Amino acid sequence: MVRYKQTMEILKIMRNLDQVRNIGITAHVDHGKTTLSDSLLAASGIISEKIAGEALALDYLDVEQKRGITVKSANISLYHEYKGKPYVINLIDTPGHVDFSAKTTRAMRVIDGAILVVDAVEGVMTQTEMYLRAALEERVRPVLFINKVDRLIKELRLSPQEIQQRFVQIIKEVNQLIAMYADKEFKTKWQLDPAKGQVAFGSARDRWGFTVPMAKQKGIKFSDIVDLYKKGKEALPELQKLAPLHEAVLDMVVKFIPNPREAQKYRLPKIWHGDLNSEIGKAMMETDPNGPVIMLVNDVRIDPHAGLVATGRVFSGTLRAGEEVWLTNARMKQKVLQVSLYMGPYRELADEIVAGNIAAVLGLDKARAGETVVAVEYKDAMTPFEKLRMISEPVVTVA
Ligand code: GDP
Repeated sequence: MVRYKQTMEILKIMRNLDQVRNIGITAHVDHGKTTLSDSLLAASGIISEKIAGEALALDYLDVEQKRGITVKSANISLYHEYKGKPYVINLIDTPGHVDFSAKTTRAMRVIDGAILVVDAVEGVMTQTEMYLRAALEERVRPVLFINKVDRLIKELRLSPQEIQQRFVQIIKEVNQLIAMYADKEFKTKWQLDPAKGQVAFGSARDRWGFTVPMAKQKGIKFSDIVDLYKKGKEALPELQKLAPLHEAVLDMVVKFIPNPREAQKYRLPKIWHGDLNSEIGKAMMETDPNGPVIMLVNDVRIDPHAGLVATGRVFSGTLRAGEEVWLTNARMKQKVLQVSLYMGPYRELADEIVAGNIAAVLGLDKARAGETVVAVEYKDAMTPFEKLRMISEPVVTVA
């Protein structure tokens, strides 16, 4: 019942794009991407904290468990309130391993912002740079989460000054990368300023975090955190209450990641090579819910009960069950049988998903990751986001 209520609430919010964010989490392997996703999931109320503690919700594919890395993107909708206003944050689990750069780029196309996770002990590593670069090349705006701060306190036993120096160094290195890889107009604009709250610090595992403005507002001192750690495990709930991780991270997302309408305006010219002045181009630039349906599929998998599930971002129009659409790469018409949103690893049925949001669709059996779906009347006018590949990637079955 709670879940049903949340679904209805989320659908209502999704219609107002000011209250929507599409993001991913990206990190060097082992820096804490999965742990952060999981902790955010638990706090968003979509899955219970207890379950989240026992299983890493985003790592639910067999193949992932065997390889111990995140292979396939999964989408979840998080619910977050900021200054009394509700937001839906569509979180796409971007692949996190060097082998999967094509999939990474594809995932970047459907998000507008990325939480870059950096391990406070290891600092900026090769894959930090690789993923940040991939994000910036798709005009995905980064924010930073410096993770595993508990290790600086408990294991390395650094002084607050030493910890601060480490933070400063990491932020400096990330900003240098932003200056290097961002497009000209974003090199300065997207520099991260901790004083503004564009960097969060904390522990994804222990579920606490703060930004500078949040610490000021709540009167949190770093010494309070160190003192609570000295008390041991029993003090963790107190620490989590003092500095809730999800509040630090999701407030940062809501404040600094653009909403889908804002983002499509400057991202479209970079990620889509069709005519921006055409009817299709204008509809996508405006994120027009009344425009022709256009969706970029970033993830496809088989559900043994439901069949093929295609997940992607609706760039224009409103996706509804029962409508026929054109698959640009497969070159055929198919009928949308069901549309859903994601909550946790679950899909929840929706009447319609409007432009700017992430949707899961049943019925598009011939769609593969990278497919551009368009309203049938516009099939000859559509330039696909991605060209057809000769060898298609295998479709993963979810048990
Ligand atoms: P991913 O490869 O980026 O998804 O990293 P994981 O989330 O799987 O985390 C890698 C390892 O770091 C796991 O053993 C986690 O338990 C551990 N880890 C993640 N976050 C923290 C943290 O905040 N503190 C500590 N001490 N360990 C963490």
